[in-house]
Amino acid sequence: MLLLLTGCNSVYQGSEAQPPPREWSLTNEVVQPALVKRNPSKNLPPHSVVKTISAPAVHPISSPQKVSPPAPILTWTSLDRWAVENKLAAPRKISNSPVASYSISSHHGTMILEIGSREASWNGLTMHLGFAPEIIDDQIFVYGLDLQKNLEPLLLDEPLAFGTNRVLVLDPGHGGANVGTHSLTDGRFEKEFTLDWARRIQTLLATNGWKVFLTRTNDSDLALSNRVNFAEAHHADLFVSLHFNSAAPDKIQNGLETYCLTPSGMPSTLTRGYSDLWSDHYPNNAFDVENLQFAVRLHAAVLHASGEEDRGIRRARFMGVLLGQRRPAVLIEGGYLSNTRETEKIESAEFREKLAEAVANALK
Ligand SMILES: [Zn+2]
Repeated sequence: MLLLLTGCNSVYQGSEAQPPPREWSLTNEVVQPALVKRNPSKNLPPHSVVKTISAPAVHPISSPQKVSPPAPILTWTSLDRWAVENKLAAPRKISNSPVASYSISSHHGTMILEIGSREASWNGLTMHLGFAPEIIDDQIFVYGLDLQKNLEPLLLDEPLAFGTNRVLVLDPGHGGANVGTHSLTDGRFEKEFTLDWARRIQTLLATNGWKVFLTRTNDSDLALSNRVNFAEAHHADLFVSLHFNSAAPDKIQNGLETYCLTPSGMPSTLTRGYSDLWSDHYPNNAFDVENLQFAVRLHAAVLHASGEEDRGIRRARFMGVLLGQRRPAVLIEGGYLSNTRETEKIESAEFREKLAEAVANALK
């Protein structure tokens, strides 16, 4: 039932039913959610507060290329102090109610953080942090991993640059007996719309010097691991999996979601009932910075072109097509086939062309 209620319920269906692939992780150790045990004493240095969160373990991995997580920052850090250290203007309190919120800017853009909320915004786009910022001694404090994995890639790092002659692998979700979800209005399957979307993107990008390969070009199913292997075999620089969503029987929920892999040490935005081991570290975690930047670019472009509601850039670690990728990889849920208004749009070729143009434009 949970699956029915929580969106495109088929990302991991078909040849690889649950549980999601774990071949790169050799542990079942669960890192418990952080228990805040900070010392509010004024004796502590003002810039950082140590919490009792367990460090993510470094696990051996069996992928062809070994990757190690960078040393995580396991402290809560004053955003004021962090801004000074990174030569940014001090964060500005922009509202007091219903909760206090702060903005911090660089020449790349502006992030808005809310006290007590994992939801944040980047240049007007919704995104999701690992941990909710907190107030300590009248200052906003942000968890170190969020600084490292969410703030720095957007505020400090140079944006993702695409050279020419790049290889993109598009992954039209589902196929064959693995039909995905279905249209509320006429029962057509998700697998049909994802393939059409991918083909349209391929046509648009091929004329712009990109080499675009589709994991499937007809109505056939492909195991999730084979979709990853396909990207590997084609030396893909980037990977995008295309899906449409469902919240059936809820007909109200709508909007765009863009996913990338959760960095080690953080809880995911969405788990869909799967275990979410914070300590897990996958090959694709080597691209945490690029994953977020890539997701932001795609999400912004598709959101603006489609006019859909913004359900945010999100994190998940149960999506089998993302974990083993050795390149930036993103999964887009391009709208809800269970929502009356949205399913009508998705059924229109004109709208799907808009979605395709958005993805193509984001890559130029
Ligand atoms: Zn799907």
